[in-house]
Amino acid sequence: MNFYCRICCVIVLFYSPYAWSQKAVQSIFKVIPLGVKGGSDESNLSAYMLAVEGTNEYICLDAGTLNYGIQKAVAAKLFNDSASSVLKNFVKAYLISHPHLDHVSGLIINSPDDSPKSIYGLPHCINVLKDKYFTWQNWANFADDGEKPVLKKYHYTILTAATETAIENTSFSIRAFALSHGNPYQSTAFLVRYEENYLLYLGDTGADTLEKANNLQLLWNEISPLIKTKKLKAVFIEVSYPDEQPYNQLFGHLTPALLMQEMDALAKITGTGALAGFSIVITHMKPSGSHEAIIKKQLGVSNKLHLKLIFPEQAKLLKF
Ligand SMILES: [Zn+2]
Ligand SMILES: [Zn+2]
Repeated sequence: MNFYCRICCVIVLFYSPYAWSQKAVQSIFKVIPLGVKGGSDESNLSAYMLAVEGTNEYICLDAGTLNYGIQKAVAAKLFNDSASSVLKNFVKAYLISHPHLDHVSGLIINSPDDSPKSIYGLPHCINVLKDKYFTWQNWANFADDGEKPVLKKYHYTILTAATETAIENTSFSIRAFALSHGNPYQSTAFLVRYEENYLLYLGDTGADTLEKANNLQLLWNEISPLIKTKKLKAVFIEVSYPDEQPYNQLFGHLTPALLMQEMDALAKITGTGALAGFSIVITHMKPSGSHEAIIKKQLGVSNKLHLKLIFPEQAKLLKF
């Protein structure tokens, strides 16, 4: 290849529509799962660190497992820092979907070694942290409200549903939407925004049909325009049990069939084409017996919409 051909190649490579389209799909968000399971294994419970690419300003979506997950992330070279420093300096805020122990135990146990920051949640969630956990009978009160004396390490930020709130010390804003999690108990979906890019994280949730609720339908109405315009990069949603789990023992959770029923409801608004290849991250599988393998198989078989199903692993980086 002579000199002029080489120059041509370089020009074609950098200025072709292909090169531009490649640039357009560069990832915006990075997620480090600190824990992914929905029970039993206390070293691997729901917690996801989320930051904009190129920054170390993370929010932590739920906080079931913190220290062990961060240690594994450090060992996997996702951070060039000590686990203690990652917790103190890189985790800027907690967003808690609901106060079940598998979503908050890491936060409570690690609170003596944490740095001051805010905990964001809807009233139903913050009230339980305040009245049931950060009380002196249960644990020292590291928060800035509730039973006295208050140590004021954590600031409770009570969210108003559907209202955008900026997350301090980050470039993120969020909107929270109530979910039904074993009616009348509630959980939360967080729609996280960075500029014009979005990521949706759902805490534990049941299906609308079984919960006798319309929380998920309302959420699908909310996000469908963002899917159609490709601004929403991924949805994190739970599938706790295989399809064999009896309905009266679901305790406000989803199965593969119920997830796909909800995805069909979403597809009715977006059109089926919009969901092909769309990233759905499956969280909160309950790990008893061979349930995880069965859930994966059932989801694969029933994936008529051609969703891009992603099964997160502890300390394995995800990019969207
Ligand atoms: Zn849970
Ligand atoms: Zn729960």
